[in-house]
Amino acid sequence: MRLILLGPPGAGKGTQAQHLVAKYGLLQLSTGDMLRAAVKAGTPLGQQVQDIMARGALVPDDIVVEIVGQRIEQPDARKGFILDGFPRTVPQAEALDQMLGENKITLDAVIEITVDETALVDRISGRFSCKSCGASYHDRHNQPKQEGVCDVCGSHDFVRRPDDNAETVKARLDAYRKQTTPILPYYKAKRVLRSVDGMAPIDTVTQQIETILNKVKG
Ligand code: AMP
Repeated sequence: MRLILLGPPGAGKGTQAQHLVAKYGLLQLSTGDMLRAAVKAGTPLGQQVQDIMARGALVPDDIVVEIVGQRIEQPDARKGFILDGFPRTVPQAEALDQMLGENKITLDAVIEITVDETALVDRISGRFSCKSCGASYHDRHNQPKQEGVCDVCGSHDFVRRPDDNAETVKARLDAYRKQTTPILPYYKAKRVLRSVDGMAPIDTVTQQIETILNKVKG
Protein backbone atom coordinates (compact mmCIF):
# COMPACT_ATOMS: atom_id res chain seq x y z
CA MET A 1 0.00 0.00 0.00
CA ARG A 2 1.32 3.43 -0.98
CA LEU A 3 -0.45 6.45 0.37
CA ILE A 4 -0.10 10.18 0.58
CA LEU A 5 -1.63 12.07 3.49
CA LEU A 6 -2.36 15.67 2.59
CA GLY A 7 -3.60 18.52 4.72
CA PRO A 8 -2.47 21.73 6.38
CA PRO A 9 -0.21 21.72 9.44
CA GLY A 10 -2.32 20.57 12.39
CA ALA A 11 -4.75 18.53 10.29
CA GLY A 12 -3.63 15.33 12.02
CA LYS A 13 -1.49 13.76 9.28
CA GLY A 14 1.20 12.57 11.69
CA THR A 15 -1.31 11.21 14.22
CA GLN A 16 -3.21 9.30 11.54
CA ALA A 17 0.02 8.03 9.97
CA GLN A 18 1.02 6.60 13.35
CA HIS A 19 -2.27 4.64 13.54
CA LEU A 20 -1.77 3.30 10.03
CA VAL A 21 1.79 2.26 10.81
CA ALA A 22 0.57 0.30 13.84
CA LYS A 23 -2.36 -1.27 11.98
CA TYR A 24 -0.90 -2.08 8.55
CA GLY A 25 2.83 -2.18 9.28
CA LEU A 26 3.47 0.54 6.71
CA LEU A 27 6.47 2.81 6.86
CA GLN A 28 5.79 6.45 7.73
CA LEU A 29 7.91 8.76 5.62
CA SER A 30 7.67 12.25 7.05
CA THR A 31 9.88 14.78 5.29
CA GLY A 32 9.43 17.10 8.31
CA ASP A 33 10.83 14.37 10.62
CA MET A 34 13.73 13.67 8.26
CA LEU A 35 14.61 17.35 8.02
CA ARG A 36 14.30 17.85 11.80
CA ALA A 37 16.65 14.87 12.32
CA ALA A 38 19.18 16.51 9.96
CA VAL A 39 18.91 19.82 11.85
CA LYS A 40 19.37 18.03 15.18
CA ALA A 41 22.39 16.13 13.91
CA GLY A 42 23.89 19.35 12.53
CA THR A 43 24.56 17.82 9.09
CA PRO A 44 25.25 20.11 6.10
CA LEU A 45 21.65 19.50 4.99
CA GLY A 46 20.42 20.40 8.49
CA GLN A 47 22.42 23.63 8.47
CA GLN A 48 21.04 24.49 5.05
CA VAL A 49 17.38 24.06 6.06
CA GLN A 50 17.37 25.16 9.70
CA ASP A 51 16.48 28.83 9.12
CA ILE A 52 13.95 28.04 6.41
CA MET A 53 12.09 25.65 8.73
CA ALA A 54 12.29 28.05 11.68
CA ARG A 55 10.45 30.71 9.66
CA GLY A 56 7.82 28.27 8.43
CA ALA A 57 8.77 28.45 4.75
CA LEU A 58 9.16 25.47 2.42
CA VAL A 59 12.54 23.90 1.84
CA PRO A 60 13.53 23.94 -1.89
CA ASP A 61 11.96 21.18 -3.99
CA ASP A 62 15.24 19.60 -5.14
CA ILE A 63 16.33 19.00 -1.52
CA VAL A 64 13.14 17.20 -0.43
CA VAL A 65 12.81 15.30 -3.70
CA GLU A 66 16.34 13.98 -3.23
CA ILE A 67 15.75 12.78 0.35
CA VAL A 68 12.44 11.12 -0.51
CA GLY A 69 13.96 9.50 -3.61
CA GLN A 70 16.74 7.96 -1.55
CA ARG A 71 14.36 6.85 1.17
CA ILE A 72 11.77 5.05 -0.98
CA GLU A 73 14.52 2.96 -2.54
CA GLN A 74 15.52 1.48 0.84
CA PRO A 75 14.49 -2.16 1.41
CA ASP A 76 12.14 -1.30 4.31
CA ALA A 77 10.01 0.83 1.95
CA ARG A 78 9.27 -2.05 -0.42
CA LYS A 79 6.23 -3.27 1.52
CA GLY A 80 4.60 0.13 1.29
CA PHE A 81 4.70 3.58 2.80
CA ILE A 82 2.73 6.59 3.88
CA LEU A 83 4.06 9.91 2.71
CA ASP A 84 3.33 12.50 5.39
CA GLY A 85 4.21 16.08 4.45
CA PHE A 86 5.35 15.27 0.91
CA PRO A 87 4.61 16.32 -1.79
CA ARG A 88 3.95 19.94 -0.88
CA THR A 89 4.23 21.58 -4.31
CA VAL A 90 3.22 20.63 -7.85
CA PRO A 91 6.88 20.14 -8.93
CA GLN A 92 7.32 17.76 -5.96
CA ALA A 93 4.19 15.83 -7.01
CA GLU A 94 5.53 15.58 -10.57
CA ALA A 95 8.95 14.44 -9.34
CA LEU A 96 7.25 11.83 -7.14
CA ASP A 97 5.30 10.49 -10.12
CA GLN A 98 8.51 10.14 -12.03
CA MET A 99 10.28 8.35 -9.15
CA LEU A 100 7.36 5.98 -8.64
CA GLY A 101 7.16 5.30 -12.36
CA GLU A 102 10.88 4.47 -12.50
CA ASN A 103 10.40 2.00 -9.63
CA LYS A 104 7.17 0.61 -11.17
CA ILE A 105 5.19 1.64 -8.11
CA THR A 106 1.63 2.99 -8.23
CA LEU A 107 -0.10 5.13 -5.62
CA ASP A 108 -3.13 3.52 -3.97
CA ALA A 109 -4.65 6.69 -2.55
CA VAL A 110 -4.06 10.33 -1.79
CA ILE A 111 -6.06 11.24 1.27
CA GLU A 112 -6.77 14.85 2.08
CA ILE A 113 -7.62 15.60 5.70
CA THR A 114 -9.81 18.70 5.62
CA VAL A 115 -10.03 21.07 8.61
CA ASP A 116 -11.37 24.52 9.45
CA GLU A 117 -8.49 26.93 9.40
CA THR A 118 -9.67 28.57 12.62
CA ALA A 119 -9.01 25.30 14.49
CA LEU A 120 -5.46 24.95 13.29
CA VAL A 121 -3.66 27.51 15.43
CA ASP A 122 -5.28 26.01 18.53
CA ARG A 123 -4.36 22.50 17.45
CA ILE A 124 -0.78 23.32 16.60
CA SER A 125 -0.04 25.48 19.61
CA GLY A 126 -0.99 22.68 22.03
CA ARG A 127 0.79 19.74 20.50
CA PHE A 128 3.72 17.75 21.80
CA SER A 129 5.21 14.34 21.24
CA CYS A 130 7.08 11.60 23.04
CA LYS A 131 10.82 12.18 22.85
CA SER A 132 11.53 8.43 22.68
CA CYS A 133 8.95 7.01 20.26
CA GLY A 134 7.44 10.12 18.62
CA ALA A 135 3.81 9.39 19.63
CA SER A 136 1.71 12.56 19.18
CA TYR A 137 -0.28 14.25 21.93
CA HIS A 138 -2.14 17.49 22.57
CA ASP A 139 -2.63 19.57 25.72
CA ARG A 140 -6.37 19.84 25.20
CA HIS A 141 -7.47 17.21 22.66
CA ASN A 142 -5.29 14.14 23.09
CA GLN A 143 -3.51 13.81 26.42
CA PRO A 144 -1.61 10.70 27.50
CA LYS A 145 -3.90 8.41 29.56
CA GLN A 146 -1.62 8.86 32.55
CA GLU A 147 -0.28 12.38 32.90
CA GLY A 148 3.39 12.66 31.99
CA VAL A 149 3.71 9.06 30.76
CA CYS A 150 3.71 8.07 27.08
CA ASP A 151 0.86 5.62 26.30
CA VAL A 152 2.98 3.81 23.74
CA CYS A 153 6.43 3.38 25.30
CA GLY A 154 6.10 4.57 28.92
CA SER A 155 8.69 7.33 28.53
CA HIS A 156 8.45 10.45 30.71
CA ASP A 157 10.15 12.76 28.22
CA PHE A 158 8.15 14.89 25.81
CA VAL A 159 9.13 17.53 23.26
CA ARG A 160 7.51 20.47 21.47
CA ARG A 161 8.53 21.61 18.00
CA PRO A 162 10.17 25.04 17.85
CA ASP A 163 8.07 25.92 14.77
CA ASP A 164 4.79 25.17 16.59
CA ASN A 165 4.25 28.77 17.69
CA ALA A 166 1.52 31.19 16.63
CA GLU A 167 3.75 33.35 14.38
CA THR A 168 5.38 30.53 12.45
CA VAL A 169 2.06 28.74 12.12
CA LYS A 170 0.74 31.68 10.07
CA ALA A 171 3.66 31.37 7.64
CA ARG A 172 3.17 27.59 7.44
CA LEU A 173 -0.55 27.98 6.71
CA ASP A 174 0.25 30.57 4.10
CA ALA A 175 2.74 28.20 2.45
CA TYR A 176 0.08 25.47 2.51
CA ARG A 177 -2.53 27.71 0.90
CA LYS A 178 -0.29 29.13 -1.80
CA GLN A 179 2.09 26.27 -2.60
CA THR A 180 0.41 23.04 -1.52
CA THR A 181 -3.30 23.39 -2.36
CA PRO A 182 -2.53 23.46 -6.13
CA ILE A 183 -1.65 19.77 -5.84
CA LEU A 184 -5.25 18.89 -4.95
CA PRO A 185 -6.54 19.37 -8.53
CA TYR A 186 -3.42 17.54 -9.74
CA TYR A 187 -4.42 14.38 -7.85
CA LYS A 188 -8.12 14.90 -8.48
CA ALA A 189 -7.44 14.74 -12.20
CA LYS A 190 -5.68 11.42 -11.62
CA ARG A 191 -8.76 10.16 -9.73
CA VAL A 192 -6.81 9.11 -6.65
CA LEU A 193 -7.86 11.95 -4.35
CA ARG A 194 -10.14 11.14 -1.38
CA SER A 195 -11.16 13.48 1.44
CA VAL A 196 -11.88 12.84 5.10
CA ASP A 197 -13.32 15.22 7.67
CA GLY A 198 -10.41 16.09 9.93
CA MET A 199 -12.68 17.99 12.35
CA ALA A 200 -14.15 14.69 13.56
CA PRO A 201 -12.67 12.96 16.64
CA ILE A 202 -9.31 11.25 15.99
CA ASP A 203 -10.78 7.70 16.05
CA THR A 204 -13.54 8.67 13.60
CA VAL A 205 -10.97 10.10 11.18
CA THR A 206 -9.00 6.85 11.47
CA GLN A 207 -12.16 4.88 10.63
CA GLN A 208 -12.87 7.07 7.61
CA ILE A 209 -9.34 6.48 6.35
CA GLU A 210 -9.60 2.72 6.93
CA THR A 211 -12.86 2.60 4.97
CA ILE A 212 -11.10 4.25 2.03
CA LEU A 213 -8.13 1.90 2.30
CA ASN A 214 -10.35 -1.18 2.46
CA LYS A 215 -11.98 -0.07 -0.78
CA VAL A 216 -8.75 0.61 -2.63
CA LYS A 217 -7.22 -2.65 -1.34
CA GLY A 218 -10.31 -4.67 -2.17
P1 AMP B 1 6.11 19.21 8.86
O1 AMP B 1 6.68 18.42 9.99
O2 AMP B 1 5.59 18.33 7.77
O3 AMP B 1 5.10 20.24 9.31
O4 AMP B 1 7.32 20.03 8.20
C1 AMP B 1 8.06 20.96 8.97
C2 AMP B 1 8.84 21.89 8.05
O5 AMP B 1 9.75 21.13 7.24
C3 AMP B 1 8.00 22.65 7.04
O6 AMP B 1 7.45 23.84 7.60
C4 AMP B 1 9.02 22.94 5.94
O7 AMP B 1 9.91 23.98 6.31
C5 AMP B 1 9.83 21.65 5.92
N1 AMP B 1 9.26 20.64 5.00
C6 AMP B 1 8.75 19.41 5.34
N2 AMP B 1 8.32 18.75 4.26
C7 AMP B 1 8.56 19.56 3.20
C8 AMP B 1 8.32 19.46 1.81
N3 AMP B 1 7.73 18.35 1.26
N4 AMP B 1 8.68 20.51 1.02
C9 AMP B 1 9.27 21.61 1.52
N5 AMP B 1 9.50 21.79 2.83
C10 AMP B 1 9.16 20.77 3.68
